[in-house]
Amino acid sequence: MREGAIEDMPSHLEIKNLHVQVEGKEILKGIDLTIDSGQIHAIMGPNGSGKSTLANALAGHPKYGVTQGDVLFKGSSILSWGPDARAQAGIFLAFQYPMAIPGVTVANFLRTALNAKRKAAGANGDAKAISIPEFRKLMLSKMQLLRLDPSFATRYLNDGFSGGEKKRVEILQMAVLNPELAVLDETDSGLDIDALRIVSEGVNAVMNPRLGILLITHYQRILNYIKPQFIHVLVNGKIAVSGGPELALQLEERGYDWIKEGNGQVVN
Ligand code: ADP
Ligand code: MG
Repeated sequence: MREGAIEDMPSHLEIKNLHVQVEGKEILKGIDLTIDSGQIHAIMGPNGSGKSTLANALAGHPKYGVTQGDVLFKGSSILSWGPDARAQAGIFLAFQYPMAIPGVTVANFLRTALNAKRKAAGANGDAKAISIPEFRKLMLSKMQLLRLDPSFATRYLNDGFSGGEKKRVEILQMAVLNPELAVLDETDSGLDIDALRIVSEGVNAVMNPRLGILLITHYQRILNYIKPQFIHVLVNGKIAVSGGPELALQLEERGYDWIKEGNGQVVN
């Protein structure tokens, strides 16, 4: 390998001067963020600062319009890609408010999603749909990891699930789909301490050197279990401060009020 080749490799995820508008209102006002594979970055910030807007924009939600800037995933701009193409490329979003889909079982949903991804990956090769027994084995092992009763497989997705069950099923999806970029939007919200530990252990078990995680949270609590190397505080659509894990402890002690809008100031 020639010298400097590593430096020339594209970043895993590169968000450049991202501006996003929702219903005619600018919510994200120039986000710059680079996540390499194997890294966990946390985005913290007050309610309404634009955290879910960032998550939705990365996933390609049509309501979230990018008006400026770019998002590169492994060197390619994904802005013109639909949500399905992004998912098939390995981008996964765990929703803050997972939707129920009555009529679609958890097992069918997961198998369909996994097969769509395998098919896309095998577009130039011969990747086949996963066999039902093989899929069942995979799903049950991941359910065990998230301490979900096997009976969840035949229940309708999120239909009548408790808040904690919905969040565990989001991480079950992540575990089955094995993404390369996972955006976890307030996966901790509404969880009691036991569920928080189970969900966090699930995320940690799925973490690997090919995966980058963007962990969105309002509270420091989940960071006792999932350890980001970088923390960014989003205020009014901009990253006001970035730092290491110690920044979360400062936020825990002092709240968000002391952070004013800056321009990417780094706290040491
Ligand atoms: P956070 O996740 O940090 O609490 P959001 O990204 O959900 O913040 O919201 C940021 C701002 O964008 C809020 O003012 C919110 O009302 C607005 N917003 C987000 N999504 C929508 C939407 N789908 N329709 C209208 N306004 C929205
Ligand atoms: Mg949110």
